[in-house]
Amino acid sequence: MYINTLQPKWVRIFISLYWSRSIQNELKRTPKLTSPLPRPVTRRKLLFLAATAAKSPITTLLFGGDVMLCRAIGRQARERHDPALPFRDLAPRLRAADITFANLEAPFSDQGKTVDTGMVFKAEPEMIEGLKTAGIDVVSTANNHARDRGAYGLEYTLKWLSENGIASAGTGPTAALAHQGTVLVRNGLRFGFLAYAQDQANGNYQDLDPRVCDMDIARMQQDVAALRLRADVVTVSMHAGMEYSTRVHPIQTKFAQAAIDAGARIVAGHHPHVVQPWELYREGVVFYSLGNLVFDQSDRPATREGLLAEVVLQGREIARVTVSRTPPPD
Ligand SMILES: [Zn+2]
Repeated sequence: MYINTLQPKWVRIFISLYWSRSIQNELKRTPKLTSPLPRPVTRRKLLFLAATAAKSPITTLLFGGDVMLCRAIGRQARERHDPALPFRDLAPRLRAADITFANLEAPFSDQGKTVDTGMVFKAEPEMIEGLKTAGIDVVSTANNHARDRGAYGLEYTLKWLSENGIASAGTGPTAALAHQGTVLVRNGLRFGFLAYAQDQANGNYQDLDPRVCDMDIARMQQDVAALRLRADVVTVSMHAGMEYSTRVHPIQTKFAQAAIDAGARIVAGHHPHVVQPWELYREGVVFYSLGNLVFDQSDRPATREGLLAEVVLQGREIARVTVSRTPPPD
């Protein structure tokens, strides 16, 4: 279905028309966990998409949920001498997208003992092999475990991701840089990412570290407006909601819709560890909770599945959304 600029023009126009029909069919088939489209894609819009398809590149973004790389996940990887083990099965699907996103729920650190139990996480540096094997391009580092290894872990994580060619959003060496977000270029378009956490301390700190982006709506809207000057398509990551609840909390709805209102096109939510609904809102799409991508909460069956949300963009417009379920490895 990809349009190759080397093809003759008539071939590209033919593919474009076929593509617009398939968008219409896909939208009819797309499983809806929530209400129908608030603003259905109109025939006029489909004709517009068909007319512009020949010059608008197709870009596929793929969103996965929480990734925790210690405890049982780290132990099994060590036993098998394969730090990429947790991503071996998922990698072919994750690698296929132009940009793959996930929430990194455990900071990396090269200090201290390995973490086998408990709620204060740490990923061993070699576990980054899994993210690389899976072709994960960008992660959110703004979540309730961002400070689990203190200031050292926050800084080490940013450095280690960057050295390994993985972009990050939601934390930064300074508050200003954290709120700037990150931009990846694909197919001549700039894809910007911002990330925010409802809670940055998980009960371990009383203070706030300004280098972790909090869910302040006014500040987020300023960030989105600023990033739109540097990016064609903006995604906002949101680590929020009630853990283990399949119902969307009003805090999530308010923040996500405010992000789209401010100019973001996609909101990728995570933190509840279970799957929650998604919706098309105005010109954007909101995934309220993608559940777990790689986690070890096998005592709770609902946490064993997550969503992989594929957003296909034609130029800057959302052409198709496909959501599939994935069982995270033990
Ligand atoms: Zn969380």
